[in-house]
Amino acid sequence: MGPKGVGGGPDDARFVGARRKLIEEIRGKGITDLEILQLFDKVSRHQFVPEGVWNRAYEDAPIPIGYGQTASQPSLQAFYLQVLKPKPNESVLEIGTGSGYLTALLASMADRVYSVERVRELSQRARSALDGLRYRNVALLVGDGSIGWRKYAPFPVIVVSAASPSVPPALLDQLADPGRMLIPVGSRERQELMLVEKEAGAVRERSVQEACTFVPLLGRFAWEVEGSQGA
Ligand code: SAH
Repeated sequence: MGPKGVGGGPDDARFVGARRKLIEEIRGKGITDLEILQLFDKVSRHQFVPEGVWNRAYEDAPIPIGYGQTASQPSLQAFYLQVLKPKPNESVLEIGTGSGYLTALLASMADRVYSVERVRELSQRARSALDGLRYRNVALLVGDGSIGWRKYAPFPVIVVSAASPSVPPALLDQLADPGRMLIPVGSRERQELMLVEKEAGAVRERSVQEACTFVPLLGRFAWEVEGSQGA
């Protein structure tokens, strides 16, 4: 590791061009919201992924972050933000902290982000990246996000970044009224991205993107954890 603020800092010259190109790609995929596009310039993705994959940090593709997990594709995360558009006075529940990159984007828009991750090491890594960038409005929990985070419920916005066979009932319970949630639902191989909206006691679900592939949500209200150790 080099001295702080030199190698790999947010303004590291090696990444400026690549970041601009990524933003153009995201714009090309229909993300027109200027505030969201600017966030992708402000929050440096390479600071959330292992140094070994820095050369791929600004490709519009999922990248491996260890422990069998991947950081989601940036244009898909931009789509999440554009559909959900968290407001400065809203709290957000995120399931699947992973690299912490989407956590940082959400924390730049919302009041507070509560993010649950089942892999302790990933949560710890995300914590140090977020601390290094001075995000003070993020709470992280290591555990099974399929049961939500009851202590801080209800949440006007819920973001699920791992695939579930159905909408976990606990998450629906912890969604505020009115509230909105994005969650990939389907088989382990292929999912649809569902927008779940709660309003005046009624719940409506509709598909906003077909055929996406996320890593599985492993937990009590999702896919079974293989082997012994759960969350
Ligand atoms: N937005 C993240 C996505 C990471 S992939 C990023 O871009 O980095 C999804 C994450 O969900 C993985 O880190 C995985 O470990 C986590 N996950 C899977 N099942 C979970 C569960 N039941 N509770 C919390 N996190 C879970």
